[in-house]
Amino acid sequence: MINYKYCPMCRSALVQGHSDGRDRFLCSSCGWINYLNPVPVVACIVKDEKGSLLLIERAVEPCKGHWALPGGFVELDETIEIAGARELEEETGLKGKAGTLVGVHLQESETYGYVMIVGMEFQVKDLKLSVGDDASDARFFPAEDMPEVPFKSHKKLIQDYLRTSSSP
Ligand SMILES: [Zn+2]
Repeated sequence: MINYKYCPMCRSALVQGHSDGRDRFLCSSCGWINYLNPVPVVACIVKDEKGSLLLIERAVEPCKGHWALPGGFVELDETIEIAGARELEEETGLKGKAGTLVGVHLQESETYGYVMIVGMEFQVKDLKLSVGDDASDARFFPAEDMPEVPFKSHKKLIQDYLRTSSSP
C-alpha cells in the first residue's frame, strides 16, 4: 500500500486526519489530501469464430510465463476502450473494437494498493496473431481446454464471460 510520509506539494510532514468520511493522511501545512484510489486496468476478452478465447503468455512479472487475458494499465488520457484496443494490438497484433462490458473486479496489489480490473469484450475481424510487447505467446483456447490463469480477476472474468455467452 502506498503511504506517503511527506506532502508532494510542499514537503511538509503528512498527519493522520479525516476527510470525506474516511481516515486519510493530510498535509498539516497546505491542506493537500492523500486520496487513495484503485488504479484502472483493462482486460480484453476476444473470441475467434469457434468461440475460443484469446490468452497471452506473460513475458513480464507478475506471473511471467503464465497465461492471462491481454490488457494493461489505462494511461492518463485514455478510456477503457482506447487502452484495451492499444494493449490488445501491442501484445497480439490484433485490431479490436470495444464491445460490451464483461465485469469489474478489485484486486489488492503490493505496488498500487488496489487495481480495478475492467473486463471488456473486443470484436476483431482479422484474427492473425503477431505476438509483441509484454507477451511471449498468444493463442485461442477452447473453453474446455483452458490453461491455468493465475490472476483471480482474469479467471473470474473468463468464467463470467463463458457463462453469459453460452446461455441462450
Ligand atoms: Zn503540503
